[in-house]
Amino acid sequence: MNNLWGRQQNKRALEKKARAKQRTSLGTQQNVSEEDANPRQTGVVVGVLKTFIEIRLLNTDLVYQADVRNFSQIVVGDHVSFSVDEENKAKIIERLERRSVITRMRGDVMRRGAQNFTEHDLAANVDIGVIVASSAQPDFKPHFVDRFLIALEMGSVQPLICITKSDLASKLAEEEALYAGLDIPIIEVSTKTGNGIESLKKLLKGKVAVFVGQSGVGKSSLIQTLTTETEIRVQEVNEKTGTGKHTTTSSKMYEWSPDSFIIDTPGIRTFNTESIPKNQLRFFFHDFDDAATRCRFKDCLHDHEPRCTVMEDVALLKIKAARYASYIRLLHDA
Ligand code: GDP
Ligand code: ZN
Repeated sequence: MNNLWGRQQNKRALEKKARAKQRTSLGTQQNVSEEDANPRQTGVVVGVLKTFIEIRLLNTDLVYQADVRNFSQIVVGDHVSFSVDEENKAKIIERLERRSVITRMRGDVMRRGAQNFTEHDLAANVDIGVIVASSAQPDFKPHFVDRFLIALEMGSVQPLICITKSDLASKLAEEEALYAGLDIPIIEVSTKTGNGIESLKKLLKGKVAVFVGQSGVGKSSLIQTLTTETEIRVQEVNEKTGTGKHTTTSSKMYEWSPDSFIIDTPGIRTFNTESIPKNQLRFFFHDFDDAATRCRFKDCLHDHEPRCTVMEDVALLKIKAARYASYIRLLHDA
């Protein structure tokens, strides 16, 4: 029940956000004759740079540039309708509805209690969030994985847990046990031996993926493994600066295999969950759902409440201690 509630809340929040964004909206309406001359086309945003946006015409390799003005709310992965003028410049007409969005929240530390957060979208229409965690160096930390699981669920993005460095240690059975019953795929890989790389590719085929995880776990190595073996068809974009030098944008979408994409954008690898209201955190721990329905208090935080059935199930080992520890840590994080 809580599970459903949580998901519906997220869906509603996403819809509300989409409506609000549409209201503050985008571009100017074209008149009919202009539209006849420059017909509407649909494309995917594959690069966001300081002064322009790169749009790839759907189902082609054609990439157009559009002026960035008035479109700060467009991120890599967004689908847009646009027209192209005589000079081959794209003009965005509107941003199309998103099926998912990954958002970073920036909190005002002084006012965190008042939940004064600003939202900053990082990527849109992501199908799968690969939560990368290493079996060793650094050790597997459920706390990090759990944060990412929540953040992805908030953005309606499916998770995949990917345990790296299987050449150093393998604790897959332990990690599988920790997330058993949560319907989260877990795989084990090594970029050193190639173990599991084919399985990872199969899971990401035909999808838009992002890689997230703590620093040092092997995200860059994995992205490199996927993108260097195949020709990258949507290349990293260079932007000419006033001095004639080239600076490289870091918001990009790679096609590592036909119709299979990786979005890599500043901040996306380590975005987090600090903005979730404490009293809603519990709805993201779906392994608590069953016990939570039996708690005496409807709004039980499963923290200090007497005869809390979630805490009882932790004691009975029905709920994993590491998962409960993650929850308590997030609940009390400043
Ligand atoms: P990121 O910070 O998550 O992007 O991690 P990196 O990809 O930069 O990797 C961090 C370190 O782990 C580097 O020294 C890599 O060479 C090493 N590393 C990455 N993948 C593997 C692996 O599969 N096995 C081993 N043994 N080391 C790895
Ligand atoms: Zn409780």
